[in-house]
Amino acid sequence: MIGLISATAAGAAARDRLAAAWPERTRVYDGPVGDAVRRAFGECEQLVCFLATGAVVRLVAPLLAGKTADPGVVCVDEAGRHAVALLGGHGGGANELARAVGGVLGAEPVVTTATDAAGLPGLDTLGLPVEGDVAGVTRALLDGEPVVLDAEVPWPLPALPFADGAGDTGGAVEGAYRVRVTDREVPAGEREVLLRPASLVVGVGASRGAPAEEVLDLVEGALREAGLSARSVAELATVDAKADEPGLVAAAERLGVPLVTYSADELAAVEVPNPSQAPLAAVGTPSVAEAAALARGGELLVPKRKSERADGRPAMATCAVVRRPGRGRLAVVGIGPGARDLLTPRAAAELRRASVLVGLDQYVDQIRDLLRPGTRVLESGLGAEEERARTAVAEARRGQAVALIGSGDAGVYAMASPALAEASDDIDVVGVPGVTAALAAAAVLGAPLGHDHVSISLSDLHTPWEVIERRVRAAAEADIVVTFYNPRSRGRDWQLPKALGILAEHRAPATPVGVVRNASRADESSRVTTLGELDPAWVDMMTVVTVGNTATRIVAGRMVTPRGYRWQASDLTGGTV
Ligand code: SAH
Repeated sequence: MIGLISATAAGAAARDRLAAAWPERTRVYDGPVGDAVRRAFGECEQLVCFLATGAVVRLVAPLLAGKTADPGVVCVDEAGRHAVALLGGHGGGANELARAVGGVLGAEPVVTTATDAAGLPGLDTLGLPVEGDVAGVTRALLDGEPVVLDAEVPWPLPALPFADGAGDTGGAVEGAYRVRVTDREVPAGEREVLLRPASLVVGVGASRGAPAEEVLDLVEGALREAGLSARSVAELATVDAKADEPGLVAAAERLGVPLVTYSADELAAVEVPNPSQAPLAAVGTPSVAEAAALARGGELLVPKRKSERADGRPAMATCAVVRRPGRGRLAVVGIGPGARDLLTPRAAAELRRASVLVGLDQYVDQIRDLLRPGTRVLESGLGAEEERARTAVAEARRGQAVALIGSGDAGVYAMASPALAEASDDIDVVGVPGVTAALAAAAVLGAPLGHDHVSISLSDLHTPWEVIERRVRAAAEADIVVTFYNPRSRGRDWQLPKALGILAEHRAPATPVGVVRNASRADESSRVTTLGELDPAWVDMMTVVTVGNTATRIVAGRMVTPRGYRWQASDLTGGTV
């Protein structure tokens, strides 16, 4: 819950706008501000105070308990010009809240935590539990001092500017700061931060009525004896029949992890070192704990063991621990047609989330400033598509966080297909859509895509011309608006006139045609012409050509394809219906 506090009429007005925008997430605290701040501080995860920062500092100072306990606090000034992340920038989410509040109120977010200002991810924002000298290592990263990454478990972390040649080697640099990715229960050394990857799966079995304490003691004992950190446990796993077993549900809750279940058939198919008769009779699989832990692969670190009971009665729980290999992450990111503000916030976030960037050199140049310092950039020239796809997938398989970029949408005549054709299910794949050239051009031209439309690439590099021609003919016969990608290059100049000729067999010479070059880029140019008048010399590889259907008209210099549906009161072809 976000507590909202204000003192003045202007503050109350801004507060009400925020409350109206987020009705489920906010609660207004009325009354004297000191009292309101104290109540909200105790009850909410976050506060937005429409008060001066000085006033808020004085009010919250006596309430501060520590970085992990305090709520995130954002202050908005009287004029609603700034949203200041005052307290709990990372842990309390105040930086993000300041940006979100800024979005609603039109206020400039003010973020002063050092890692954000320097474009570095905070060590406490990586989504992994972190222990040790966070402040010291963060300062070293900010100061550009060498920091060694020692990843015992490969994990797809965003880029951090590590010492030369580090990255994933963990070479011993004397006295250097160190970020260690480990699921082992080791103490953090001096100048060291431990990141806990979610790499451990604990398989559990339980008889009906097994107490949560017994399950927890068993799991915690197994981890302790094996020298493993409970903070690296990703999930408890068991058989479907035990999905609602109270002891298991409670144990998972106490460990803060989900309880994942598999069918008895799935578990029976998993090869395990210690099968037994008892579970086979009870739930239909010769192993629950080991099989559930191993169901998604990995290395068995702790074989099946039973709980111990002081009263000598039979054990009611079993467990086994498996380390799963870290899954790499491949983000396939469309960076839009060119203009920075047509690159989506999600695309920008994925670029910053990556430690390896793969792309065509000219696209990499467009977004280089968005990358975290330390991002490994693997760029290549035109024509190296297959190699780029293979590289991106291979890096993800090594456990890296990879962003593979393409202009427009990365799935439209671009890298997503060759990359995903290579990728197996041992990596996570995230797609980020981008504004494709046809849409960027359509917005320049008017409304040419108001009815059914199709994109056709005229490049016969990978597609025989007969296939392209057949598709152009089909679009012509079906009266579909067509956008041609890759319309014409120096060595490839007869295809466009030929394709337009096929369309002209079914559409009048006066049919509107839009030609847009470098849509949304600095040197954008466009013209609206007709099928009869288009000069192919206007067209090159930076261009898309959009041909209207038989109903498309030019209105005030803009291309408009009527929607033509009956429910419209009037349309451009038929007048009032
Ligand atoms: N993935 C890209 C398309 C790659 S094919 C996308 O979704 O937009 C390359 C072709 O796209 C170019 O030959 C050109 O026809 C078209 N194109 C890409 N960006 C363009 C832009 N900004 N303006 C006009 N055409 C563009």
